[in-house]
Amino acid sequence: MNLLYEGKAKRVYATDNSDRVRVEFKDSATAFNGQKKAEITGKGVVNTAVTARLFGWLQEHGIPTHFIEQLDDRNLLVDRLSMVGLEVVVRNWVAGSLHTRTGLPEGTPMDDPVLEFYYKNDALGDPLLNEDHIRLLGLASPDLIARLRQEALRINQVLKPFFLQRGIVLVDFKLEFGRDAEGNLKLGDEISPDTCRLWDRESGERLDKDRFRRDLGGVEDAYQEILKRVVN
Ligand code: UDP
Repeated sequence: MNLLYEGKAKRVYATDNSDRVRVEFKDSATAFNGQKKAEITGKGVVNTAVTARLFGWLQEHGIPTHFIEQLDDRNLLVDRLSMVGLEVVVRNWVAGSLHTRTGLPEGTPMDDPVLEFYYKNDALGDPLLNEDHIRLLGLASPDLIARLRQEALRINQVLKPFFLQRGIVLVDFKLEFGRDAEGNLKLGDEISPDTCRLWDRESGERLDKDRFRRDLGGVEDAYQEILKRVVN
């Protein structure tokens, strides 16, 4: 049915409006550049609802996103975007690859957020890029890099308190941006426990995809807990 693209966790379908697409969220999960695969029951439903809630919240706070409406429990209607070929990661606490790259202990808080750009390129394993690399590859102009940085930091300022009020520490997260048919820069893709590190404020328990990546167990329960706190 008009399938435009199938990724690891989502399918994108054409609609009768060429400027809009439907995004379907799957239960499939991958980690380590696709080397580890599994089904997480209910993940697609959680990520649909969480993304709709967070994108709706961001739009209410003046952040342009591709989100239009939630169609059903696994499908969002969104603006069709031409994507910037970068992943933008914002970090508030040390975890994951920042820990392995720097040796700083996991769970170290940072006064100022750390922002990183990664090259969306599976064959290369999505490497970290500096701004000269981005310019060399023609992925974004210095002006666009500055706008991506500013937008990502604004999003962090809106999301951090949203999560904290729900007993969740927003440790780090990944964003993707694109341009709509009119050339407007908008936040695209998703924000969900697949793309964020979310730690319980009291216990430090991991309520995100790290439970799957690190075989911690309780993956489904963690996703349901995020659904309950973020959406209900
Ligand atoms: N992330 C993501 N997709 C990726 C890589 C990272 O959504 O392809 C998210 C990840 O969930 C975390 C943040 O970006 O919230 C930072 O990830 P990190 O660089 O620490 O890599 P990881 O240790 O997750 O491989």
